[in-house]
Amino acid sequence: MNRSDTQRFDYIVVGSGLFGAVFAQQAKEAGRSVLVVEQRDHIGGNCYSHDFEDTNINVHKYGTHIFHTNSEEVWRYVNRFTEFNRYQHRVLTTHRGDVYSMPVNLGTINRFFGVNLEPREVEDFIAARGARDRIENPSNFEEKAIGMIGRELYEAFFKGYTMKQWGCSPTELPTSIFNRLPIRTSYHDSYFNDRYQGIPVGGFTPIFERMLEGIPVETGVDFMADREHWLGRCDKLVYTGPVDRYFDYEHGRLNWRSVRFEIERHDLEDFQGTSVMNYADTDIPYTRIHEPKHLHLEKSHTPNTTVAIREYSLRDNDRPYYPVNGEADRAILAKYREMESACGKTIFGGRLAEYKYYDMHQVIGSALQKAAKELSGREPRPAVIPTT
Ligand code: UDP
Repeated sequence: MNRSDTQRFDYIVVGSGLFGAVFAQQAKEAGRSVLVVEQRDHIGGNCYSHDFEDTNINVHKYGTHIFHTNSEEVWRYVNRFTEFNRYQHRVLTTHRGDVYSMPVNLGTINRFFGVNLEPREVEDFIAARGARDRIENPSNFEEKAIGMIGRELYEAFFKGYTMKQWGCSPTELPTSIFNRLPIRTSYHDSYFNDRYQGIPVGGFTPIFERMLEGIPVETGVDFMADREHWLGRCDKLVYTGPVDRYFDYEHGRLNWRSVRFEIERHDLEDFQGTSVMNYADTDIPYTRIHEPKHLHLEKSHTPNTTVAIREYSLRDNDRPYYPVNGEADRAILAKYREMESACGKTIFGGRLAEYKYYDMHQVIGSALQKAAKELSGREPRPAVIPTT
């Protein structure tokens, strides 16, 4: 038995993604002893990035991650662990062979309808095409989208893409997923409105290495296979895995959307001319193609080489990425939340444990807030979970 098999810790953190790494870092900084256990063979959760072969191209293994936030506090915190480049995310989408800009903006509308509207004309133009005939309180993604942009834009850019992505009709999805994207009557085509935005210059993994500096991390550990052992070795456990798994699926399984990637190396300087190209039509089986070299304009890459990654969507509750959050899921989740409150020793946090479609900055905000409360015993001031 080696030393770490018996040593006790103030906190054992299950999962080395953003929630786990931030919590562990905060606990260590507050003078507590911490051990992190991680199921995969690497740290960083779905933010993990690595250089691909000899290309010097940093690839985000689990899909392109763009850091963005309006929170001063989150921005200051994350800058302790990395420098960011000045990348501003712009997304393009291909519909019937033509390329448009996303989110829907004046350029998208003018090109799609072959018109030359000015910003003040957009609202009436869209209204005349069926938007605003909306049901007052839209109850799902489709109703919300048609109410905002009319049926034609919805069918061209959202319906097929969303069906491919989520594997169900947009009528079965909540309005909150549509609300993630702004609709603009200007030519402004940045994907996010946030004040701070960028990609870590060395990729995402070094952030985790620095956050976890001096903290023991055991990789390749399936916590659930030996739950009592780990619980017995700490005063408090921080669990960031899927919440239903923690409770042995006692009230049933929560639904997750998963993704799968096909990576190709090309002897080309540039494959598609942009970092992310969405494919809106259902006759194309993938949802988007990522070309990560475009995330780092500041960096030189191996000449005449690029990497393109096709993303396919699938339902796979064993490889969770995005909470589906349908009606049945919400009912199941409420039961797990009750079980959590009877479970004083464990803190639940992050996308998987909270079953929330968090972005990175929101996870950091949530981890800072829960860590502050836990480590000081008081509610933090001010609350720092960014809502957008
Ligand atoms: N969406 C769409 N068409 C697009 C981009 C997004 O229909 O070209 C919808 C889709 O349902 C998606 C949601 O908007 O799940 C939110 O998009 P976002 O880019 O935030 O998704 P993520 O990057 O987190 O996968």
